[in-house]
Amino acid sequence: MTIKKVVIVGGGTAGWLAANHLGKALSYNDEVTVSLIESPDIPPIGVGEGTVPQIRKTLSSFGISETEFIRTCDVTFKQSIKFVNWMDKKEHGENNFFHHLFDMPSKFGEDLTAYWLNHNKGKMYGDMVSVQHSACEHNKAPKSITTPEYEGTLGYAYHLNAAKFAKLLAENAINKFSVEHVKATVTDVLLTDNGSIEALMTKELGKLEYDFYIDCTGFESVLLGKALKVPFVEKTTELLVNSALVVQVPTQEDDEIPPYTLATAHQAGWIWDIALTNRRGVGFVYSDNHMSDEEAKRKLDHYLEGNPFKLTYRKIPMKVGHREKFWHKNCVSLGLAQGFLEPLEATSILLTDFAASFLADRFPKSAENIPLLEKRFNHVMGYAWERVIDFVKLHYSLSDREDSQFWLDNKKKDTISDTLTARLDLWQQFSPQKEDFFTKFEVFDYDNYLYLLYGMNYKTDLPVLTANYYKKAEEHFTYAQSIAEQLNQRLPNHRELLNKIKKYGLQGV
Ligand SMILES: Cc1cc2nc3c(=O)[nH]c(=O)nc-3n(C[C@H](O)[C@H](O)[C@H](O)COP(=O)(O)OP(=O)(O)OC[C@H]3O[C@@H](n4cnc5c(N)ncnc54)[C@H](O)[C@@H]3O)c2cc1C
Repeated sequence: MTIKKVVIVGGGTAGWLAANHLGKALSYNDEVTVSLIESPDIPPIGVGEGTVPQIRKTLSSFGISETEFIRTCDVTFKQSIKFVNWMDKKEHGENNFFHHLFDMPSKFGEDLTAYWLNHNKGKMYGDMVSVQHSACEHNKAPKSITTPEYEGTLGYAYHLNAAKFAKLLAENAINKFSVEHVKATVTDVLLTDNGSIEALMTKELGKLEYDFYIDCTGFESVLLGKALKVPFVEKTTELLVNSALVVQVPTQEDDEIPPYTLATAHQAGWIWDIALTNRRGVGFVYSDNHMSDEEAKRKLDHYLEGNPFKLTYRKIPMKVGHREKFWHKNCVSLGLAQGFLEPLEATSILLTDFAASFLADRFPKSAENIPLLEKRFNHVMGYAWERVIDFVKLHYSLSDREDSQFWLDNKKKDTISDTLTARLDLWQQFSPQKEDFFTKFEVFDYDNYLYLLYGMNYKTDLPVLTANYYKKAEEHFTYAQSIAEQLNQRLPNHRELLNKIKKYGLQGV
């Protein structure tokens, strides 16, 4: 049977990202239609405002203008995540920090890791191997008004307003890729004798039939989880946070905008602080096994300096884990319907984008193609999820904080996967190499691990430096320092560039 009618259920970020990926990939074939069903009664989750650099490639491939995106979604540039107090305060000082930067480390020459391990010259790892550390600390934008759209002098992603982003993606999918937008609530899912989905029952439009179904219904996972009964695999042993209090904090028009996500650790989790052009999005993430909701609220009040605007906090319980498989018969899940870990490192939109693009690249033409593609998709996505769990866990396992049960529990050996344990053992002897990462499905790679490991002072045996390496590294280091100084002169202030983009726009591609 040829697959002609494809439906995405769910109109949050995941649904509309999928609509663009699939709409674009299938637009060459007039016989195939893509529809998106969205419930008028169930709102999207409304959080998810931090992204990673891959999103630039995605938006550009959808034909969305970066200027329009920045103007309509209250966008700011994100060049790093600045981790504050993730290390023991007594040992490393109050407000100790490091950056997980988006620019490649050592990009102007010799890898400076071995040099830093031997001669850090009082510099933090990120500051020695990347000019972006200094740019972030000086509130610089990653580019100038004359830099073409989606290109950067420094690597970057975005902070964005989730609701406005979904709207922009929706307009693009509908207008550019002819995706049909259906407003209806799915009340039941009908199955065939062989356990595939036959049709959807909706409150407003009755029975709707399609050939292939994409479940983007959020935590509810109405299709893959509820109807097809694919089990949910909890990851609460590895990742301990399970709740968030979220709030939007108004800001002034001329307030400075940090070009990074601020991630401040506390006794039972961490706080994200994301500045958009007109407000901050703040989220207090915690383990409710280690901190009561009341205490979390008090701590968030304290973080917001007494909450002078008397803002109310929204509690979001987080379902930590993922489906046992992500594609079953004629149904694929994406976004929160596929799973969720926690907001650290903004892995959710990244995994959704990755999965939707992977699906679109090899979309089944007929039902006969499904078993092969289903197996491949499940294998790749399963691997990607496991490695993302490792990377998120790395933050907690590298910390030397022991000031609460939360941090002690996070270090227990049975909460860390064998793969991560083996890698950490290896990196005690040798610093990470590109070859330690086997596939392109790692999602987080060598550069991400370098910033984390050495931002958090991981102890690696000192490498022996040859005279030749040392000379090259010295030259590279001196050169990079001069570039950092030049960039601090040349790059505009973050807010200043955003204001200019609003007024004049960036150069089109
Ligand atoms: C606290 C928190 C912080 C987060 N922060 C980040 C971050 O910084 N970066 C990041 O990448 N991700 C983050 N995420 C994840 C991010 O929010 C999601 O990846 C993103 O919003 C996509 O959600 P979704 O589209 O899968 O689900 P939702 O936004 O929940 O959308 C579900 C959609 O399904 C529809 N629907 C549901 N049931 C039915 C039905 N029966 N019939 C018809 N339609 C239905 C709803 O109408 C809605 O349109 C965060 C998540 C949480 C919980």
